[in-house]
Amino acid sequence: PSFTAYVGRFAPSPSGPLHFGSLVAALASFLDARAHRGRWLIRMEDTDAPRCIAGADQAILTTLRAHGLYWDDEVLYQSTRTVAYQQAINSLLATHQAYYCTCTRKVIRQYPEGYPGTCRHVGHGPQNASVRFNMALPETSFTDRIQGSQLINTAHALEDFVLRRRDGLYAYNLAVVVDDIYQQVNHVVRGSDILPTTAAHLTLYKALGKTAPTYAHIPVAATEHGYKLSKQNKAAPLDNQKATENLVMALNFLHLQVPDTLTRASCDKILAWAVSHFDCEKLPHVSEIIVDKRESTYYNQSI
Ligand code: GLU
Ligand code: ZN
Repeated sequence: PSFTAYVGRFAPSPSGPLHFGSLVAALASFLDARAHRGRWLIRMEDTDAPRCIAGADQAILTTLRAHGLYWDDEVLYQSTRTVAYQQAINSLLATHQAYYCTCTRKVIRQYPEGYPGTCRHVGHGPQNASVRFNMALPETSFTDRIQGSQLINTAHALEDFVLRRRDGLYAYNLAVVVDDIYQQVNHVVRGSDILPTTAAHLTLYKALGKTAPTYAHIPVAATEHGYKLSKQNKAAPLDNQKATENLVMALNFLHLQVPDTLTRASCDKILAWAVSHFDCEKLPHVSEIIVDKRESTYYNQSI
């Protein structure tokens, strides 16, 4: 049997500094990679230029370094990858696995269950159109390393999703798959909030004739049910001066109780301990964990 070396990654979008929730995602993917003696890559998901903030990429990298989370290889920026995204779209169009859609936002909003595939067989040209993937044969099931056997069958998760918007912007669902293939990522560890999109990703892997990675969707930190900590809900940026405390809290969230003797140690020492104790299969099989607003320092008081 051939042995494939582990390649994992953390893929933040540079729309702001890292907060506690994103540290947990970075840490889980880092620990899983290192525990498997694998490589750990960073990819800046900056396809959505209007949402990116200048300098946020450097702030994220500085915070990762401050917490001892050193990566392998050069950071890959999605903004440099548009040729590859367009090539993937061209090949999907050529094999009728993608099509042009001219439906307006207003029309699409009439379908809360998801886009019904109106333009699938119309044969629109590229003018003033988005490109959608034809989900005629969706991959609906997979085994998640944490969450177990999954069946994704909501209409919304199985809709003909957008590959390239009408304004030319390449969609996350396309870029993530094209880049994970390019970077030879074979283990994805990420937040459970994006678990439902895995149906789209698996179907895209099949359409492109590539092997999908394994997935581990970790519980996300939420302020209340359905509200994950995010830049949008004003999660406070991490204080790099408190890297040790941040790490201890994030490890706690991942059910790793750092021994008292290490709670004031360097990040490197704490991480070395964590790598030898981490087992992502032992994480709670839940999609979110509510963190206490009163005890956490990671909340803006205004929420
Ligand atoms: N860029 C995505 C995010 O920040 C992560 C995507 C992924 O890990 O697949 O939520
Ligand atoms: Zn349409």
